[in-house]
Amino acid sequence: MKAAIQIQLLSQAEKLCQQRHARMTPQRLEVLRLMIKQNNAISAYELLDLLRKSEPQAKPPTIYRALDFLMEQGFIHRVESTNSFMLCHDFTDPSHTSAFFICDRCGHVTEKTAENIRNILQKMAAKASFTMSYNVVETHGVCPQCR
Ligand SMILES: [Zn+2]
Ligand SMILES: [Zn+2]
Repeated sequence: MKAAIQIQLLSQAEKLCQQRHARMTPQRLEVLRLMIKQNNAISAYELLDLLRKSEPQAKPPTIYRALDFLMEQGFIHRVESTNSFMLCHDFTDPSHTSAFFICDRCGHVTEKTAENIRNILQKMAAKASFTMSYNVVETHGVCPQCR
């Protein structure tokens, strides 16, 4: 990702937090900056190592609190099957449902909006009298670069 786009994403996140009266601390912003720079899914421990370059005192709870905040704001997503986190492709809609396509060779993760999948699952849940809180759609395979 180009530097100008990285800066633009950061200021967009800051602006959205102001509008929502959510507290974007310098530390949370730094974690988001690291994730934007990464441009792929990353584990919490890899992020902690990166954060320690600027904040040597940072501990695992520091990272997890920052990640929780960024997930709540819809800036990042958790990729459950690889236990990692990635930047969202659309900051402006914090409640969208995503499908993740995970390359098993290079680890690259692509996000696609998947409202239609959510609708299907919701119908299935309703038929089973099941109350759905959230769902995960993750697909493993090989990306175009690795094929
Ligand atoms: Zn997203
Ligand atoms: Zn790949």
